[in-house]
Amino acid sequence: MNGYKMRISRGTGTPEENIKRLKKALADSDAVVVGAGAGLSTSAGFVYAGERFEKYFGDFEKFYGFDNMYAGGFYPYDTAEEMWAFWSRNIYVNRYMNAPKPVYERLMALIRGKDYFVITTNVDHCFQKAGVDKDRLFYTQDDYGLWQCSKPCHKKTYDNEETVRKMVLSQGFSIAEDGTLTLPKDGALKMTVPSELVPRCPVCGEPMSMNLRADDTFVEDEGWHRAAERYAAFLERAENARVLYLELGVGQNTPVIIKYPFWRMTAANPRALYACLNFGESYCPKEIEDRSICIEGDSAEVIERLL
Ligand SMILES: [Zn+2]
Repeated sequence: MNGYKMRISRGTGTPEENIKRLKKALADSDAVVVGAGAGLSTSAGFVYAGERFEKYFGDFEKFYGFDNMYAGGFYPYDTAEEMWAFWSRNIYVNRYMNAPKPVYERLMALIRGKDYFVITTNVDHCFQKAGVDKDRLFYTQDDYGLWQCSKPCHKKTYDNEETVRKMVLSQGFSIAEDGTLTLPKDGALKMTVPSELVPRCPVCGEPMSMNLRADDTFVEDEGWHRAAERYAAFLERAENARVLYLELGVGQNTPVIIKYPFWRMTAANPRALYACLNFGESYCPKEIEDRSICIEGDSAEVIERLL
């Protein structure tokens, strides 16, 4: 879709009609490819600023001056112990705690029983927690639950749950049975972790870092490659099928991973449909307008109406 001027459409039909059309498309399609972006997690209550930030990072805000979790990830901390105090809380609340609202579970209820595949740029593990079939998931940006060597000297990733739990506990939090992070009664937390918990590469001894696609050190481990291959195979199989490309909460930051390929594949297959659920940014190329279903609104509400 690149290289020439593309005309954009807001889609056709009323919201009511489009819900009906999408319901029918879900029922009629032979395959569903779900593409999920940050907006879906926002809809599930994974918000990186405001009340949720204040609750777990109020002390960081006072001391360092940033006002959301995203900014905290870029702060140049003086010591590794302070940096990991921030990151362990960030990892814990966004990866090991359940989303405040069961949007992912409801989405899975919608596609369970279908021949589906999910691609997501989200790093919060919500699809896994909602019971997605692991062989039908490709999380392209990898995962808050994994660390890698920061150099990196080798292409392997390491599960961080045990160390992250120790890190948050060492700051004065407790962890409830359902995994919820609880603040101490007096609210007094440490903003540092013990030096022995600072993770180092077991091979070269350099610091570990998050396995995130932030720069060219991102390690695409074996699991990543296998998932990428499975995704490619699924798309190939669906190439000429009655396939629904269902996009939820994909923003403008990384359209080349989900949005543009969905458009391109819909354009190439006359039996394919494209659906775009987005809060305020729902649109499609004019070229595939008649086979697109654009729905504005909160994904959580739209999914409820579809069920
Ligand atoms: Zn290393």
